[in-house]
Amino acid sequence: MRRQCAALILGLSLLASACSSLPDNLAFYDPATTDATEEFADLMAFLEAERGLTFLAPVSVRRTDVTAALAESFEARAGDSTDSDEVRDPGSVALTLLGLLDEGSDASEQAATARTEVAGAFYEPATGEIVMPDEPITDAVRALMVHELTHALQHQNDLLIRKMANEDEALVHLALIEGDADRMRDRWIGELPEDRAAALAEEYDEAAIAQEPLRGFAVTQFLALYALGHPTVDSIVEADGLEELNQLLRDGGGSTERLFDPLGSLVGPVRSGEAPAVEDESPGATTIGTGTIGALTFYLSLVATNMTPGEAFQAVIGYDSDTYRVVENEGDGYCLVGTIWVDSGNDGNELAAAFDRSGWTASVSTNGQPGGSAVSYEGCSAMVPVRAQGIELLAPVWVAGWSLNTLLEDGVNPALARCQSQALASSIPVSQDALSQFDRSAVERLAAQPWVAEACLD
Ligand SMILES: [Zn+2]
Repeated sequence: MRRQCAALILGLSLLASACSSLPDNLAFYDPATTDATEEFADLMAFLEAERGLTFLAPVSVRRTDVTAALAESFEARAGDSTDSDEVRDPGSVALTLLGLLDEGSDASEQAATARTEVAGAFYEPATGEIVMPDEPITDAVRALMVHELTHALQHQNDLLIRKMANEDEALVHLALIEGDADRMRDRWIGELPEDRAAALAEEYDEAAIAQEPLRGFAVTQFLALYALGHPTVDSIVEADGLEELNQLLRDGGGSTERLFDPLGSLVGPVRSGEAPAVEDESPGATTIGTGTIGALTFYLSLVATNMTPGEAFQAVIGYDSDTYRVVENEGDGYCLVGTIWVDSGNDGNELAAAFDRSGWTASVSTNGQPGGSAVSYEGCSAMVPVRAQGIELLAPVWVAGWSLNTLLEDGVNPALARCQSQALASSIPVSQDALSQFDRSAVERLAAQPWVAEACLD
């Protein structure tokens, strides 16, 4: 388990630390727990100093087989869900039509598998306890504990649990939560003495070789919380400080557009828009579900199907909010009908063009906001062709996040850094190669290239 987890930390730098998850509704009770306050006192002191928050209560630690514990819990929950042969899960239908899920696959099943496979430890809010592997305490395990202890610190300071207005907001809150924890872990690793840091890097490298590539959309969406959350949190703290991060965690953080454009507030308020209305169903069609898709899923769909990374990136940077409806036609399959609000007419036209290219119908109209527009779309067959469903889809956004950070740290003013990082992201291809080539130091070198600065001269 530790091998797999460690591989995720550095095997692909994109995967930062997917070594933890924050499952909801998991309730473990085991009186045989230990107190982290004694065992990991140094890590807790580090966190208090680094994060500027105080632990208000002890944190319990329970050692067990984390993978088995998670699998058991997901199995128990799957038993509760109603399985009907007649009607498919609407979310899975929507993702299938968007080209992100194979026909007949179940999104929540894939998500549960993804979480189970990558979890190295987790924090359980219901009991205030960290569930960790029963293994000797190495620096890799300590790094994992820094991440999980950050969740305990967030929880005790009332930053962890929020009831969000929609799935999109819930996703961005979770990304900020995970990004905060990964940021703390990396800063702890950054302070290790040279010999221990080298040994830790070696341990991660060895594990990376043994790592199977993770595939599938559910894995990608899950890992995106870590891969995009970490640079987003770094950028927010770098530009506006820790109190701004705390405020965002309290308020929710807005739409998933923030993960693509952490400094978007520079050009206007980051809206967490009210969901737009969707057309009524037509005669002969039955609505089987409604929901929101969000900027992250739209980006993944557009870049997986028919847009260049630059186009897809620009299109969702204008994302405001959306609503979709999945309808079942009498004996004739499913359709996805929806409306997306975007910040500008230009963003609307880009999105509509993307839907058109997929053989979907789309139209643009004003949404009543100055400069904003609404894109209505309908698709009854899957967007094609699909070039990938895996984590390589995240390469351009991931590069945007880390280059933004690099530029901010170099003292480039936020507006210019924002423009330059977006120009850089537009040049990154969607491929496994792009992922393995661009680790964080490569991104630093890239960001320093003259053409990046020249891209934003006007
Ligand atoms: Zn976490």
